[in-house]
Amino acid sequence: MNILIVGGAGYIGSHCVRQVAAAGHRPVVIDNLAFGHRAAVAPDVPFYDVNLGDEAAVGKILVDEKIDIVMHFAAFAYVGESVHDPLKYYFNNVVATLGLLRAMLAKGVKKFVFSSTCATYGIPEKMPLVETMPQAPINPYGQTKLDVENALKSLALAHGLSFAAFRYFNAAGAAEDGTIGEDHNPETHLIPLAIDAATGKRPPLQLFGTDYPTPDGTCLRDYVHVDDLSRAHIAVFPKLETPGVGFFYNLGTGTPTSVREVIKAVEKVTGKKVPYTEAPRRAGDPPALYADSTKAKTGLDWKVKYNDIESIVATAWKWHSAHPNGFGK
Ligand code: UDP
Repeated sequence: MNILIVGGAGYIGSHCVRQVAAAGHRPVVIDNLAFGHRAAVAPDVPFYDVNLGDEAAVGKILVDEKIDIVMHFAAFAYVGESVHDPLKYYFNNVVATLGLLRAMLAKGVKKFVFSSTCATYGIPEKMPLVETMPQAPINPYGQTKLDVENALKSLALAHGLSFAAFRYFNAAGAAEDGTIGEDHNPETHLIPLAIDAATGKRPPLQLFGTDYPTPDGTCLRDYVHVDDLSRAHIAVFPKLETPGVGFFYNLGTGTPTSVREVIKAVEKVTGKKVPYTEAPRRAGDPPALYADSTKAKTGLDWKVKYNDIESIVATAWKWHSAHPNGFGK
């Protein structure tokens, strides 16, 4: 099938492009390179530098490339920024996405795979999280993702769109061969920052919060390998054959890992100390977030390959050690 990957030059999108090709499909990429890296996508993959909300341009690509399924990864994803500049998030993550969906419906392309997030749950009352738990985002980022989830339900009903929305936990790691990986600017994620602290590329890590009600006092998260995430997006294709259906899946390994455990894993994998200072809690961080991914594991032909934090960090280290300046070098 011909798969349009919107945001295919970004972190998760670029890994998905590879997995789509490995599964025997034909990836086509749209990315405006606001955050993505051209070098993250192989030169032989059709690449369009357009905005996802440009309905005329997107519509033409859908027709010219005979697109069967659209995957959408292009979103702003800095929680703090979303609090300070909500309009940026509503326009890009909601309004532009609605433009993409309108272009699809106008051209009769009715299969959609959407990157959602565990941030749609807000501060959950119980762990692990199952898909049926209440969604009450605590920041505009999570809210914009939930808004799109809700729009998708309406479009399924009204227009026969079939869709899957994946609620990601903490995407981490890099391609097995170390040729593509995480390169955000600014970087805010724990694993790349810990690796860069270990190598001395960045200052010591700040460990945000040591007084959480967790076994070692630091936050628990569910780190899931970016290639495992990507493979779920492809495993869902058969489900989208039925018009008007919609699916929501949590994607995580189900294993809670603390910040201190991540630091230990980085030290073990790199053979270097991670210098860090203990800092106050970061605003908006829930103490624990981890998934019950039974629905994806049983409902899709999908298995987690990277089950432990060390194997995930090992792939990240392969990428970062070979590319200390990311795609800049
Ligand atoms: N974290 C930290 N120092 C950092 C970045 C992150 O202690 O410099 C912690 C953060 O408080 C959270 C966990 O690491 O508990 C994962 O944060 P990240 O930003 O990677 O992902 P998030 O869970 O916010 O999506």
